[in-house]
Amino acid sequence: MSEDYDYDLFVIGAGSGGVRAARIAAQNGAKVAIAEEHRVGGTCVIRGCVPKKLMVYASQFSEAFEDAAGYGWTVPKASFDWPSFIAAKDHEIDRLNAIYIRNITNAGVDLIMSTALVAGPHAVFLTAEKRKVTARVILVATGGQPWLDMELPGIEHVITSNEIFYLKEKPQRAVVAGGGYIAVEFAGILNGLGVDTTLVYRGHEILRGFDEDLRTRLRQEMEKKGVKFVFNAIFTGIEKGEGGLTASLSNGTTLGADTILFATGRRPATEGLGLQAAGVALDQQGAVIVDHESRTNVPSIYAIGDVTNRVNLTPVAIREGHAFADTVFGDKPTHVDHSLVPTAVFSQPELGTVGLTQEEATTIYSAIDVYTSTFRPMLHTLSGRDEKMFMKVLVDAETDLVLGVHLMGHGVGEMIQLLGIAVKMGATKADFDATVAVHPTAAEELVTMRTPTAQLRREAA
Ligand SMILES: Cc1cc2nc3c(=O)[nH]c(=O)nc-3n(C[C@H](O)[C@H](O)[C@H](O)COP(=O)(O)OP(=O)(O)OC[C@H]3O[C@@H](n4cnc5c(N)ncnc54)[C@H](O)[C@@H]3O)c2cc1C
Repeated sequence: MSEDYDYDLFVIGAGSGGVRAARIAAQNGAKVAIAEEHRVGGTCVIRGCVPKKLMVYASQFSEAFEDAAGYGWTVPKASFDWPSFIAAKDHEIDRLNAIYIRNITNAGVDLIMSTALVAGPHAVFLTAEKRKVTARVILVATGGQPWLDMELPGIEHVITSNEIFYLKEKPQRAVVAGGGYIAVEFAGILNGLGVDTTLVYRGHEILRGFDEDLRTRLRQEMEKKGVKFVFNAIFTGIEKGEGGLTASLSNGTTLGADTILFATGRRPATEGLGLQAAGVALDQQGAVIVDHESRTNVPSIYAIGDVTNRVNLTPVAIREGHAFADTVFGDKPTHVDHSLVPTAVFSQPELGTVGLTQEEATTIYSAIDVYTSTFRPMLHTLSGRDEKMFMKVLVDAETDLVLGVHLMGHGVGEMIQLLGIAVKMGATKADFDATVAVHPTAAEELVTMRTPTAQLRREAA
């Protein structure tokens, strides 16, 4: 343990990455403190992945009740009680929050409920306790925050993902602003819960950066379910009147709503943190610039997770936290590989994706074989629901290497986790073909696509 400092490690932010780093560093023998200004567990547990997935489950029942009729069930008209659901969700989040607190304290880490500011290369100021503590190493794990255009007239009337989890009652009409995964997921959740939902996005299609086929097909499926989309439009103002909120758009139209959710991006939580005064370099978005070991330009200050704006996902933040603690306090240098990270979008229907999109693959490789399959999943043969499942496997025609897999449909979030292993191991299309199908499943399509639907060839320059 350091004799010159209060702690070996001071972690700012008890979210996914910070908690893991603190626990592992303590297990490696370090004297550790962690500060949290909101609730232990961070974005993912308190107001991100976990409550969102619970909301997705809640919203999916409306279709399940409808689909049951095709299987001979008579389901009386179902109704949804928002306060009961929110109370049950809050109970579960409280349980997880308590587990996180227990895990931290059981590891011997000092938990301090306060905002912590960087006060120098080895000093942190705790605002709640108005005192300074010192540490040999400081780890910034403050995550990200929803970004809002504060210049927009009426912006005070909108909510962000931070507030949607605590609405007192279910809105009748909602407008969701944004085209990223959070906007798309909440549009699906609200629509599934029976809310009249419109998504407004300034671009021409949802989910920029995802495979084009997934983008258009998901939007089409969401339209079939009743979500309305307005593209190429931005908000020019929001007014509150007796009948609720009215959003004015740049295309000259207006939209009425009880709730307007802005999911227009997130920014690293570095504002006012004291990093620049301590000499820590930030990029233009305010993200902490780090090297492959998550070290900043100030040797005693490290940063992990969303605050570094690398791959903003919980499992990545956890890995970065673990690798940091092993490298700096465990004498076990570990680097996080940010390539081939499988991800899911919990839209309705769900998306799962790993590796290169078709657009990326054709830019890098000169010969790509594209295997696709579009089909009605077995569940919907009897339910009668007009919902298609879609699968795409991209293969380098020269080496047979699988470069990317892109899926849409029920359960593909689970599928992509396992496909991620195969793709990460360097599976070839021949490996997929050599694997016997599991029947009857939707996933069996992945090993039975024999003929390419497209062979994309780039002429040699
Ligand atoms: C709505 C939503 C849905 C999401 N869904 C998914 C998903 O399905 N899958 C997935 O992998 N990822 C998802 N994410 C992203 C995921 O939540 C983040 O990538 C992850 O939480 C990042 O972890 P972190 O440790 O970097 O930061 P966080 O988990 O954000 O933790 C940072 C913590 O630091 C605290 N803090 C900030 N500043 C200070 C300060 N000065 N002093 C003390 N404490 C401070 C904050 O209160 C917070 O608790 C979602 C995010 C959102 C918003």
